Amino acid sequence: MIRLFVDVDLKAAARFTPSPEQAHYLVRVMRLGLDGKLLVFNGRDGEWLARLAEISKRGCSLTVESRVRPQASCPDVELIVALVKRPRLEAIIEKAAELGVRRVRLTVTERTNADRANVARLGAIAVEAAEQTGRLDAPIIVAPEPLARILATWGADRRLMFCDEAGDAPPAAVALPAAGAGPWAVLVGPEGGFSDSERGVIRALSAATPVSLGPRILRADTAAIAALSLWQSALGDWRGA
Ligand code: SAH
Repeated sequence: MIRLFVDVDLKAAARFTPSPEQAHYLVRVMRLGLDGKLLVFNGRDGEWLARLAEISKRGCSLTVESRVRPQASCPDVELIVALVKRPRLEAIIEKAAELGVRRVRLTVTERTNADRANVARLGAIAVEAAEQTGRLDAPIIVAPEPLARILATWGADRRLMFCDEAGDAPPAAVALPAAGAGPWAVLVGPEGGFSDSERGVIRALSAATPVSLGPRILRADTAAIAALSLWQSALGDWRGA
């Protein structure tokens, strides 16, 4: 069943026009006919069955019918990822959405080789992954910020899983359960890794939990996937109902 992330309030009998891209996708690509059904969600009102109520040259309109799932949110985990080359960064966004992050904060560090990112494009990738993966919200993508500023304004209520390639951090299977459940962030560095001074500042944070991802050096995308999988398994929604 097609799932679309929409930005309208969802309630019975609501009628709305999807975006031109979404209309094209429904009618031309998926060839959904009149009265065809699909699922819609907006991150607030749960997931609703909808019907293709009208097709015209200008586009189409959808009628909302019944709610099939109440709103539920992913665990409060976010990914902080240093800017890496675009294809790999786009892959990280897609995997982070499937792995249930609420937010992705992009960061510029001493060794990142880019200081800009196409946040709108990354947002579209996150939405597409959210539609595919069956979640009821879409991850928020936050524009690049310097790592120093992220750390300087760190909130006391959120733990920081510091994926430290230096090799002396404890295994995730030990460090995560010991640190306990609650709001978390997962930090992954750039291809060049973290500098020693960055490592010092991160480890000085009382909220930081340094974690090893094993004896081999993983690429940033592999590290993000592995770290988020370990977190979801230890503290998130992979622990079963
Ligand atoms: N070029 C660096 C490695 C950078 S890998 C070097 O050779 O040391 C990119 C990021 O992935 C790292 O900054 C870290 O956050 C994460 N990472 C990769 N392998 C890891 C490991 N074995 N343990 C913990 N974090 C790791």
